[in-house]
Amino acid sequence: MDNAKVAGQRVLLRADLNVPMQNGKVSDATRLERLVPTIKELAEKGAKVIVLSHFDRPKGKVVPEMSLKPIAEALGRVLDKPVAFAEDCIGPVAEAAVAKLKNGDVLVLENTRFHAGEEKNDAAFSEALAKLGDIYVNDAFSAAHRAHASTEGVARHLPAFAGRLMQAELHALEAALGNPQRPVAAIVAGSKVSTKLDLLNNLVAKVDILVIGGAMANTFLAAQGHDVGKSLQEKDLHGTALEIMKIAAAKGCEIFLPKDVVVAQNFAANAPTQVVSIDAIPADMMALDVGPATVEAFIERLPHIKTIIWNGPLGAFETKPFDHGTNTLAAAIAQATKEGKVISVGGGGDTVSALKLAGVHHDLTYLSSAGGAFLEWMEGKILPGVEALSKGFSNLG
Ligand code: ADP
Ligand code: MG
Repeated sequence: MDNAKVAGQRVLLRADLNVPMQNGKVSDATRLERLVPTIKELAEKGAKVIVLSHFDRPKGKVVPEMSLKPIAEALGRVLDKPVAFAEDCIGPVAEAAVAKLKNGDVLVLENTRFHAGEEKNDAAFSEALAKLGDIYVNDAFSAAHRAHASTEGVARHLPAFAGRLMQAELHALEAALGNPQRPVAAIVAGSKVSTKLDLLNNLVAKVDILVIGGAMANTFLAAQGHDVGKSLQEKDLHGTALEIMKIAAAKGCEIFLPKDVVVAQNFAANAPTQVVSIDAIPADMMALDVGPATVEAFIERLPHIKTIIWNGPLGAFETKPFDHGTNTLAAAIAQATKEGKVISVGGGGDTVSALKLAGVHHDLTYLSSAGGAFLEWMEGKILPGVEALSKGFSNLG
């Protein structure tokens, strides 16, 4: 945005207004609060700010319950400034609303996904959006893994820039994975190896230590010949797990697996638990968290680690006491981060929930709420919405 001359210009700002709602009210305004710096800066520089966003999955049709209107009102409260709303994001209704804007005004357009052209990245729909603005700013990293009209198509028609939130996200991810201070440790946990194969394959070639936890670790332990009892695991992925360990050995990446686990007979809140070594998992029990010796062993390594990437809770954190391993590690990483000893970047839907429950979501260097886009970046994929920003401007010559 430093390079954008926005005064007096109509700025189409792609934001992520896809916030959690309950009974027609915004239940968590975090995403809106994070947009404030970009919108304030544009408005203060005299731009006419026109906000574009999707909400939920209306699948190309008008679904009144998925209107952005209540969210536009909530955005106004967060900005402490009137926010206008237009009941369509293209055509005469949108054009009339844009024409009324004065420098510094903010307008939210209706849900882009009310038109089928949005998800199809339809050229005519992109043009209809682009017609409303002079400059395009994308501040929705969380939608950048999708090549949709409002995230990619429109950037082909207008000078395209990253907003402050997009910029912060890209800087944090670059510091974690692109050009990190070494040694770098990645913690990859959660339920399934199968959903994280691309992630494991990318990280194993880039990080120095790969910590594997959660139910995913059961698959690795079983592949190594440990009996994991009734634990959740993916038997068909033993070969894949061994292959990943082989690649790690070849690349000089240390694989850090649990040494002990917390087991229970059944998966229930406050079920009686036992801590056992990975060689002694009873046949009728399941591993639901990493054990204290495992967490302690990693914490002892912390002073020698400069960068940490974290995706996936170490245990079935939604059910107590299986949140314990995640909470203990989270507290140690938060502390090391506060002391300036480590750069820590986390992300993933359940990871954000788990770190919130652990009370450390403000204490990492960066906690991404971008979900799928965060994972695809960590998988080493090119995100069309980010790519469009670097290309978009040069396309215009
Ligand atoms: P994210 O959404 O952050 O990418 P995942 O969806 O991959 O994370 O993993 C989170 C899920 O993994 C949680 O629902 C958690 O309960 C589950 N999980 C973690 N460890 C275990 C385990 N040992 N047994 C069963 N489920 C587990
Ligand atoms: Mg998840």
